[in-house]
Amino acid sequence: MPVSEKGNDHAMTVSSDDRSHSANPPSDGESSLVRAERSPARAMNVARPPNPRMVHRPTVNPDLRTHGTTRAARVAIIGAGPYGLSIAAHLRARGVGFRIFGNPMESWRARMPGGMLLKSEGFASDIYDPERRFTLKRFCAQNGLCYADTGLPIPRETMATYGLRFQRQLVPDLENRTVVALDRSSRDFLLQLDGGETLIARRVIVAVGSNYFQHVPPSLAHLPTALRSHSSEHYDLSRFAGHDVTVVGGGASALDLVALLHEIGAQVRLVARQPSVAFLSKPVPRSLWHRIRYPVSGIGCGWRSRFFTDAPMLFRYLPQPTRLRTIKTYLGPAGAWFVKDRIAGHVPFLLARTPAYSEVRDGRVYLQCKGDGGQSELLTDHVIAATGYRVDIGQLDFLSEKVRASLQSIEGAPVLSRNFESSVPGLYFVGLASACCFGPVMRFLFGAGYTARRLSEHLSFVSGVRSRLRLTGFRDLTRWVL
Ligand SMILES: Cc1cc2nc3c(=O)[nH]c(=O)nc-3n(C[C@H](O)[C@H](O)[C@H](O)COP(=O)(O)OP(=O)(O)OC[C@H]3O[C@@H](n4cnc5c(N)ncnc54)[C@H](O)[C@@H]3O)c2cc1C
Repeated sequence: MPVSEKGNDHAMTVSSDDRSHSANPPSDGESSLVRAERSPARAMNVARPPNPRMVHRPTVNPDLRTHGTTRAARVAIIGAGPYGLSIAAHLRARGVGFRIFGNPMESWRARMPGGMLLKSEGFASDIYDPERRFTLKRFCAQNGLCYADTGLPIPRETMATYGLRFQRQLVPDLENRTVVALDRSSRDFLLQLDGGETLIARRVIVAVGSNYFQHVPPSLAHLPTALRSHSSEHYDLSRFAGHDVTVVGGGASALDLVALLHEIGAQVRLVARQPSVAFLSKPVPRSLWHRIRYPVSGIGCGWRSRFFTDAPMLFRYLPQPTRLRTIKTYLGPAGAWFVKDRIAGHVPFLLARTPAYSEVRDGRVYLQCKGDGGQSELLTDHVIAATGYRVDIGQLDFLSEKVRASLQSIEGAPVLSRNFESSVPGLYFVGLASACCFGPVMRFLFGAGYTARRLSEHLSFVSGVRSRLRLTGFRDLTRWVL
């Protein structure tokens, strides 16, 4: 219940714009990498015979073989969301040995609200295997689920189930474990898993998504977590039924939450710093001219979006200030078209205001918001900060001090080579953490396709060169150069 709301609350103005090889430790103590070498077909678990040019190559450097409790992997992938799974499926098809860790599709199963619909179109919501055989479209067709390339929002639940099915079929050796520490020796990485196992890996791909990078405004950060949360902490909203909830933020997550909270019977309001709330327009049949002027892309219509989706490798070569500005401003906050009618006129919006001060009063949150829209004071049961993510590799608490200190970054984001490799040789970052170098597409599912292709080509090449150099007696060279 608002205590008082001074100033002019802006009426809502709507602007429409446009295994790997491993997993469960082998019971016989034999490295699964070694077993995979011996039986590539079994390790790959694919119905078709593998492409002879992509036969499984030796994956274990003798230096990396199992010893004591420490096991080995050519490549370790940290993270089992759409990016990690796509990369794993590509590496597997190329016969590059790896282990992959993480709770499969965790963000989609446990960190997005039930009932949420995807903002991306069906055709842009795939997880990627090299042959494009396991698309969302095919998954929906096989399971009798409604699907359209455009114009039919995909439920979050469908995406989560699709991802799990993808994982079971194409990445069956996934290890549902958390990497708690990552350090580097002179030439390898040492990973520590929950449960105590340690692992040596030659190369490590960090595909941990956005959850380490949650941003909460300083004016809210000190509130106890029972009264304040981040949007990524909510799966089941039912506990808020009948309660007064304030959602801070003006982007898609905020607007989704507002709609869902309103629908379960919470008294919800939105506080946003923008003077108006934007919604994307519903896809409609378009004239040829319009399609030429605003070509479709995996992240929206228009030539700029098309450039970002089709040429992430070129984005890297833009001047740094341009890249940083683009990442901060491109595709600014906007709700999905299907959310507009569910909240317009039903939910109070306090626009052009940001939380300036908050404290706990009688078990509730007293919130003071200020801005061009005026000043508002209110008492609320819970504040949800739907205030997005800010990439900061310093937040990746599993990285050792040594690794962190060696990582070059720009405004918190790692500097990456064209192969997604950071300034620490052998350490790669993908997904949101790579957006600063590869552009806004990396904030979306769609970016996983390019990432998986590029990274698997690179790792397969490196792996092949290493093997050949080793066979020709240049072992020391392979050790230090590749
Ligand atoms: C509310 C919301 C809605 C979204 N809607 C869309 C949409 O409609 N369309 C779209 O394209 N994108 C959308 N996105 C963005 C979407 O989340 C990303 O595109 C996609 O999930 C990124 O995949 P990822 O693999 O990088 O990260 P995630 O999906 O976040 O997966 C991270 C993985 O890392 C694992 N992990 C983390 N830390 C560790 C560790 N220390 N050890 C082991 N494993 C670890 C997790 O268990 C998880 O498996 C949305 C995001 C949010 C927050």
